[in-house]
Amino acid sequence: MTTRRILSALAVSLVAGASALGYYAVEEGHKPGYKDTPHLPGGKWRVHDAERPHPPVVTPGAKVGDAPSDAVVLFDGKDLSKWRGDHGDPTWEVVDGAIVAKAGSGSLISREEFGDAQIHVEWSAPDPPKGNDQGRGNSGILIFGRYEIQVLDNYKNPTYADGHAGAVYGQHPPLANALRPPGEWQCYDILFTAPKFKEDGSVETPAYVTVLVNGVVVQNHAEIYGAMAFRELGRYSPHGPKGPLAFQDHGDPVRFRNIWVRPIPAQDQG
Ligand code: MG
Repeated sequence: MTTRRILSALAVSLVAGASALGYYAVEEGHKPGYKDTPHLPGGKWRVHDAERPHPPVVTPGAKVGDAPSDAVVLFDGKDLSKWRGDHGDPTWEVVDGAIVAKAGSGSLISREEFGDAQIHVEWSAPDPPKGNDQGRGNSGILIFGRYEIQVLDNYKNPTYADGHAGAVYGQHPPLANALRPPGEWQCYDILFTAPKFKEDGSVETPAYVTVLVNGVVVQNHAEIYGAMAFRELGRYSPHGPKGPLAFQDHGDPVRFRNIWVRPIPAQDQG
């Protein structure tokens, strides 16, 4: 059998298979799906349930890393209108389309608050690099203003494992050191599940975080033990279901750009 014949036989069998599986044009007014299939765990929906609500349409960004249509854009290169400082208006500055951390001026804090969230941040450490260990290009993404995903220029800069970029600082080292050299833009994508607290203030469920640094998974649904702490174990103190996104002032003029957040709806458990 020639290659062409094999390919055409394959195409015919694929079409036959598709039609056997029910892949056909949908008639107008007909709700695709089924009403006689087994119930999923939880019992509300059936497998392929025709009545199950469809996912909302979200238009993705033009390229990977661009904000999707439903994202809350916190910084698009222009101004700090979506931000405040520790005491009133922000003191960090926008230079050439990027926010620059200002030494000694405290955190930069989003005015809007979020719960479970998909967070996109790009950052760049000073070039040429200055300092070493934790003193080089240090900042941090402080989710709920307290759970720190470390920002650090540890490119060819040794430091302790749980202080690397992409670490849950003081708790979980990143699974890989995927940093680019200082001066280049680093890309963080973070999926954060907020902790829940009981009425007595104890933890009902801890926070979890998944982090990609430059497209490389460095935290995979890691349990967060508590708020960021230095030389001690972070602890939880109860808080509400939403909190701000903050950036840490660690004395280094780290730059930030293209910052957006998508609130993650609760998963439909059926
Ligand atoms: Mg830090």
